[in-house]
Amino acid sequence: MGGTAPLDRTSPVFDYAPAPESRSVVDLRSSYGLFIDGQFVEPVAGGSFKTISPATEEVLAEVAEADEADVDLAVRAARRAYTRTWSRMSGRERGKYLFRIARILQERSRELAVLETLDNGKPIRESRDVDVPLAAAHFFYYAGWADKLRYAFPGRDPRPLGVAGQVIPWNFPLLMLAWKIAPALACGNTVVLKPAETTPLSALLFAEICRQADLPPGVVNIVTGAGDTGRAVVAHPDVDKVAFTGSTDVGRQIARAVAGTEKRLTLELGGKAANIVFDDAPVDQAVEGIVDGIFFNQGHVCCAGSRLLVQESVADEVLERLKRRMSTLRVGDPMDKNTDVGAINSAEQLAKIRELSDIGEQEGADRWSPPCDLPSQGFWFPPTVFTGVSQAHRIAREEIFGPVLSVLTFRTPAEAVEKANNTPYGLSAGVWSDKGSRILWTADRLRAGVVWANTFNKLDPTSPFGGYKESGYGREGGRHGLEGYLR
Ligand code: NAD
Repeated sequence: MGGTAPLDRTSPVFDYAPAPESRSVVDLRSSYGLFIDGQFVEPVAGGSFKTISPATEEVLAEVAEADEADVDLAVRAARRAYTRTWSRMSGRERGKYLFRIARILQERSRELAVLETLDNGKPIRESRDVDVPLAAAHFFYYAGWADKLRYAFPGRDPRPLGVAGQVIPWNFPLLMLAWKIAPALACGNTVVLKPAETTPLSALLFAEICRQADLPPGVVNIVTGAGDTGRAVVAHPDVDKVAFTGSTDVGRQIARAVAGTEKRLTLELGGKAANIVFDDAPVDQAVEGIVDGIFFNQGHVCCAGSRLLVQESVADEVLERLKRRMSTLRVGDPMDKNTDVGAINSAEQLAKIRELSDIGEQEGADRWSPPCDLPSQGFWFPPTVFTGVSQAHRIAREEIFGPVLSVLTFRTPAEAVEKANNTPYGLSAGVWSDKGSRILWTADRLRAGVVWANTFNKLDPTSPFGGYKESGYGREGGRHGLEGYLR
């Protein structure tokens, strides 16, 4: 791999005029309260924190910080709504509300996309074309199940669990909310959801949408805050089910907190997915898949293809084309519709990406990034590829959660499978080959919850998603996603 041919710098790169999305569609308030029992309320102790735009470091709003007393109010409201209205309502009626929410998400999609991009730093193209449409699709999909739960589990009498306490991360704020709330509500549960501290705004707009949909008060409650707020949600004695998406470390803490209680638990945790390219793969298509696998959403993706395993005989060619493609990625203003790679979500996450990348170099791997001008304000990291990586390197083992790809090579399919499975995680994987038989042989042996063939990062509400090993347990999406919310 050391012999990668020099890049062809003469290949034309088109210049685009800036195409910024207008933020006027968003009505940002200077401060936001907690959403409890259908109302926006001040927190009991009056605490708050700021949420900023990671692209500019501009303060977007002051957001209420919920403590144990607020979480208690939210859980009580959820319990009341559960016993008095939501669990008594027919599935058909519940479905109507979910359909209504789905339609409002579509109607307000531009507003949601702009807000998500401002608060998270992801390119507007992605929030507009991926996050928001998929969030609406999840509500449509689970709305359809609400009156058909008996058909989902024939011969059983599916019943809701009660109050679900849900904690989500910052990488897909609205989409992760949809993954949590849509199946919970479809099954007849009520929820208390805590969004991540760096991206609370789309969840608060969603609260407004619940009001617009006339959802009965208390069915959805949104409590904002950081780890302590999440801890209070998980620990509340009247929560029947805990659903968590986030890091493996916090997942472990939550599993410990819930152990010995009656609470049901699902955990969607980290990943270190292998993206395997065989020598017969269509190279250009594979390169697009590699780029999408690791640079989509700045690599802040639990199922990101962060380990490229490429067959030795085609490694030089794949890497050369990959680097050429990386040179065309546009990094910068997430509000510009031409931007491919936006801002890193927080200073803290940027520090973590820098630290692990520096360690990669110190451990002897070769680091490469295309030349790109990064804005002076905000949090940025260039698309980066490491070659000469060995399995023992930390960049091959640990989740970096940024736009950083580690490349390893293999000679035989068996070696590819062995290397791919050599990780404590097991969330996703990709296989690129012209041969169906080879794809099936490989997929059969990969220990990953999702295996994509000749594509990557394709998410669909009808398809279950979840991990093995340290990537967690339980499935979200599809009929399987209902199970975590039913008795
Ligand atoms: P994180 O674990 O630090 O935080 C996730 C959420 O948990 C946040 O809302 C946070 O405030 C809260 N939290 C923190 N400490 C807590 C505690 N002790 N008790 C309860 N809640 C607590 O993770 P992050 O940095 O926000 O997100 C990145 C991680 O999420 C990555 O590891 C990524 O792989 C994972 N992720 C997984 C999936 C999946 O479906 N498997 C999807 C997206 C992200």
